[in-house]
Amino acid sequence: MDIVARGIYRINLYRELCKACGLCIAWCPQQVLFPDAQGYPLANAIERCVNCKACERHCPDFAIEVIPPEPESEIADVPSLIHAR
Ligand code: SF4
Ligand code: SF4
Repeated sequence: MDIVARGIYRINLYRELCKACGLCIAWCPQQVLFPDAQGYPLANAIERCVNCKACERHCPDFAIEVIPPEPESEIADVPSLIHAR
């Protein structure tokens, strides 16, 4: 698995599942993804990713995943959420 972390989103490419069809590259509206020499997607402009997940949704092999950042407040907010009920 290749992980490219830059900006606030992360793209995981599961190379063992990817068949280098280029659909994710074609569907990305932000031109985040570019083919490498073998046609596998590289997130060379990850700073432009808007987490629309078009790449994920159009991948026929579930080979690409966009990971948003963990909200820092997630753990801190748990007690207030429990008491809010
Ligand atoms: S989530 Fe959207 S903007 Fe980001 S790489 Fe995928 S298709 Fe492109
Ligand atoms: S759409 Fe999926 S299988 Fe095709 S190149 Fe992208 S990650 Fe690989």
